[in-house]
Amino acid sequence: MAPKKEYYKLLSQRVIKGLEKRNMEGYYAESKEDAVKIVLSLMEEGSTVTWGGTMTLEEIGLKERLDKYIVYDRAKADSPEKADEICRKAFTCDNYIMSTNAITYDGELMNIDGMGNRVSALIYGPKNVIIIAGVNKITDNVESAYKRARSYASVPNVIRLDRNTPCKATGICHDCTSPDCICCQVVMTRFSRIKGRIKVVLVGEELGY
Ligand code: SF4
Repeated sequence: MAPKKEYYKLLSQRVIKGLEKRNMEGYYAESKEDAVKIVLSLMEEGSTVTWGGTMTLEEIGLKERLDKYIVYDRAKADSPEKADEICRKAFTCDNYIMSTNAITYDGELMNIDGMGNRVSALIYGPKNVIIIAGVNKITDNVESAYKRARSYASVPNVIRLDRNTPCKATGICHDCTSPDCICCQVVMTRFSRIKGRIKVVLVGEELGY
């Protein structure tokens, strides 16, 4: 195995141990393709699936492999009301897929959200939450996870979503309270009351923001 890949695997194994003591499950996939196989194996065929805004999901090509599931895709809604309805369905869905803005060596998850639908579903509702994260999301502790979420993750997302916020112009966080701010909710997940509800698939590649 190439040294970098070996390093990613070792790093992920450490994170997986941290997740286990926090009642979450961890998996390691060497590649995007392996990640798709693992995610599909975690979801019962015929069950319902939806997801929160995630570039990682686009990058691994999972959406094209969901023909055996009942999919709720808010991007296909033809009105804001229908999109909102699909967001609400997430709370009773069998499987909710998302990434994480950061994950620590010790298995804590850090997520920042604008509307709050993604972090709400992470906290409560869907039976299974499946998180797919490239190794670039791994940080050494909660402080660096927060820093990563506020800078490396939020600013590119603001640019992608074309929001009118100060960071879009300068590339750095201004701790704004602008109407377009995407950093409204900051959620650190340190333990899952329901054992195994949250499953994290770490991928030995750089994915998402
Ligand atoms: S400037 Fe506002 S929107 Fe941009 S990263 Fe900071 S808090 Fe988030």
